[in-house]
Amino acid sequence: MKYHVLTLFPEMIEQGLNTSIIGRAISQNLISLDCINIRDYAGNKHMKVDDYPYGGGAGMVMQAEPVYSAYQAAVEKIGCRPRVIYVTPQGKVFNQRMAEKFAQEDNLLFLCGHYEGIDERVLEEIVTDYVSIGDYVLTGGELPAMVMIDAISRLVPGVLSNDESASTESFQDDLLEYPQYSRPAVWRGKAVPEVLLSGHHANIEAWRKEQSIERTRLRRPDLLEKRCR
Ligand code: SAM
Repeated sequence: MKYHVLTLFPEMIEQGLNTSIIGRAISQNLISLDCINIRDYAGNKHMKVDDYPYGGGAGMVMQAEPVYSAYQAAVEKIGCRPRVIYVTPQGKVFNQRMAEKFAQEDNLLFLCGHYEGIDERVLEEIVTDYVSIGDYVLTGGELPAMVMIDAISRLVPGVLSNDESASTESFQDDLLEYPQYSRPAVWRGKAVPEVLLSGHHANIEAWRKEQSIERTRLRRPDLLEKRCR
């Protein structure tokens, strides 16, 4: 999986993703991360990439041409037109199923907006997917891109070790994961559920399934409804 990120703040993405499990995956070449600074394609001596919105209103808009030139540079590197995800509060809300779909691509290009957003005309030209990380507005697209890259990368073969396996986690089969416990068996008077100490695998599995359903019913009943449809 090769990620390409068009951004005005490449250092934010690089620093954010170069640690822990994702950092390890990058150093093992299981995934790669290429951040392209849109400002490098400003095409003017002041390196200006934004301007006032036509029709008036607050804030600045990222101009079409620098974004398009940065995109063309990425396409040239990749050798074909990749799937282009514009991270935007106006997109479809990101979820585990989308992460699974995106994880099947060889290349993914993320476009991060800033200020009031990006000139609509370049979006119409290059964007294949409009994706949001939730119904709230952030200052820029870098955190959403990092969130998605993290979630997608966990699904790339080899990125998680066996110990960190993604196979039984929340949202698998539209259920939340069962509660987890570790040593000590009694902590501040609170004991671990006895079944987990029994060594009886079938009983443990049944208990976990039950907990999973109950937890989903209490915390995310919408997921159970989706399951029944
Ligand atoms: N004016 C835009 C609107 O009302 O839809 C919001 C622009 S926002 C201040 C600047 C940039 O942050 C957006 O272009 C987008 O790339 C990113 N962004 C903000 N909130 C986001 C969210 N919930 N999900 C994904 N990207 C987001």
